[in-house]
Formats: sequence, C-alpha cells, structure tokens
Amino acid sequence: MPGLINTHVHTSQQLGRGLGDDVNLLTWLHDRIWPYESSMTEEDSYISTLLCCAEQIKAGTTAFAEPGGQFVSGMARGVAQAGIRGKLANSIMDCGEGLPANWVHSTDEEIARTVEDIKNFHNTADGRVQVWFGLRTIFNNSDELILRSKEMADRYGVGVHMHVAEVKDEVEYLKAKIGVQTVTHLNDLGVLDKNFLAVHTVWLTNEEVGMFKAHDVKVSHDPAAAMKVLGFAKVPRMLREGICVSIGTDGAPCNNRMDMVDEMWLTSLIHKGWRLEPDVVKAQEVLTMATMNGAKAILEEKNLGSLTPGKKADLIVIDPRSAGMLPLHDPIANLVSAMHSENIRDTMCNGKWLMRDRRLLTIDEDALYTEAQQRADAIRRRAGIALPSRFPLQ
Ligand SMILES: [Zn+2]
Repeated sequence: MPGLINTHVHTSQQLGRGLGDDVNLLTWLHDRIWPYESSMTEEDSYISTLLCCAEQIKAGTTAFAEPGGQFVSGMARGVAQAGIRGKLANSIMDCGEGLPANWVHSTDEEIARTVEDIKNFHNTADGRVQVWFGLRTIFNNSDELILRSKEMADRYGVGVHMHVAEVKDEVEYLKAKIGVQTVTHLNDLGVLDKNFLAVHTVWLTNEEVGMFKAHDVKVSHDPAAAMKVLGFAKVPRMLREGICVSIGTDGAPCNNRMDMVDEMWLTSLIHKGWRLEPDVVKAQEVLTMATMNGAKAILEEKNLGSLTPGKKADLIVIDPRSAGMLPLHDPIANLVSAMHSENIRDTMCNGKWLMRDRRLLTIDEDALYTEAQQRADAIRRRAGIALPSRFPLQ
C-alpha cells in the first residue's frame, strides 16, 4: 500500500523521549522540553532526526511534516541520508514568557531565519527535503509574525504548520486577552487557508470547525498526544463536514511512539470511546486519513497518498502472516485495528528501498542507537533537567 504520511512529528525531540511523562503541559514545556531542546547542538539535531526517521521507516512512514526545531540544516542532513520525505521548519517565536535566552528573537529575525533555510534547503535531496513556516503557538507568536509567515509561505509556495487550540489554557488566555478563541482570531487575521496545517485543534467551537471547512484548512489529529494531556478533537464532526483530517504522532516526549500504525489504531478507537458511538471514524476513513489526507495536508496530493501511475513510488510491503494480524476476513479492518509495525516488511521512498526484510538500508542502526543514547544523556545533563529519583540514568 502507499507509504503512511505523518503530518506532525518533532524530529528534534526524538532524543528527549521519556522526559515528559506524567506531568502537566507547563512542567512539560518549561522544565523539560524547552531546556532540553534549547541545549541541543546542530549535530544533536541531525542524530535526533536520523533516529526519528529510522523509527518512522520501520513503521511504514515515507513522508512527514515537522512543526519546527532549531536547526533545519541538521534535520535536512538527517532526512537526506535516511531517504524519506520531510517538510521541515524552524520553530518560530517572537514573544511569550519563560523562553530560553537563546530563543528570544525579533519578528524580523524569525522571518529571515526561515527565508534563509528555504534558500539553502528547500527542494534539496531530489525534492524530498522541503522547508515550511513553523509557527509554534499563539502564546509565542505575535499577529505580525503570523501574518508575515503566511505572506512569505504564499510567496514561496510552501505551507504554514502551527499548533492550534491545543489546550484549554490557550483558548482561555486568548479570550481574556482579546475576547476570542484561537481559531476565530486566526480567521480574523485572514491566515486560514488551504496551505495552513493546524495541529491538535482540540478546543474549537462548531462555528470554528465551519471556518476550517470554509477555508480548506488541513488538520493533523494526534490521538496519543490528545489522550496524554490535550483532550479530544471533534474529529467525527470534522470528517462529516468534509474537512481534510490527517494523522500525526507528535514528538517523542509526548506520545512516545513515532509509529503511524499505532496512531491509526488509536484514531479508530478513541472517538468511539468518548462519544459512545461505535460507528464513527471507520477503518476506511482512518486509512484515508493516514495516506491520501496526509498527502493533501502536506500539499502533495498530486504526488503521494495512493498507488497511482504517475505518482511518486512511496510504498510499503506488508506481510500479514503473524499471530497478531491473521486471520484476514476484512483486510481494511485488519490494517487499521490489528496490524503492528512489525508487519511492515519493506519500505520504499522515491523509488528507493529504505528497508528490506525489516533491515534499514540507509542507516547503520547499531551505531546510531549507541550515539543517540550518548547524546541524549549529554543534552539532559547540559540542560540540568531534574527527573524523579526512579530515573536510572543520573
Ligand atoms: Zn507538536
């Protein structure tokens, strides 16, 4: 089948897996992830990306969208070597409380940084590497930054990737500040559009769902992150209204699996559970979300998302002969609800095999795992992150 498309994954956070468990969002952000990410070097970003790509290739992902890290150069090296496709971005922020000192930048600096990365890396590695604008959140993005990012994204023909209405605190903060919620504000700014990828989108009114539909906004639904800390997005309603909802894993400290097979399974389950409606978000819909809708969400509808003559050869080979996936009565149901990533035998991207018989061909796995652990420990020590005493790696 076509390769899976992960529309939200933080490649720079891969080395921080396990740093954000059992804590609220503010602790997660201020005490764990910001110190960690802001202590990374360009080389750390490369290794983090390579590890993230390795996990994704093994789970059948052939293309992904990255919401923003600090070193597009490091990410681009990782993606170029791994052989998959990535829409990469800087994490753009020009305001907000508590930012690490080396992340405080002006609006001009933030726009210039991404324009520079577009010039250096966009459409490199046979077109597999592309660069988008990555707005972090409304807490850290001024109106001017949002407007100029959208304007520049249009000018360069790329997308805008943004965390939108992800926690209740976010919409309450904005309502107290300007009287409206995040999506209404983005609509008022005029930036909702077909090249706008809105991630999480948990705290939306029905009217705001209508705004997404009216402007053909693309949505990334990340079910594991939703259950861990955010809440449940109105995915059944969005699908019913014909909004392009795709699936993402989110980053390693908030899932903690970069495995689209697991995310398909969760997507099919969680909405049935919270709504007590067993017929919502059906297996075929989930498969479409993870393939064709993912292609639309990353602006690759013409090239990816289905096995069609003329499209790029991004595909996976599945071997269902295993205790967990047989018997096959309804193959679509099994792909979504029974398959494990171990059933994915081979992965191809852009006509090249990246994995055969579960073995990666572009990455020395053993060497990578050793280096990733060493770098992960070193970054955590540099960042001075305190963990519960049960944590064994002090
Ligand atoms: Zn995210």
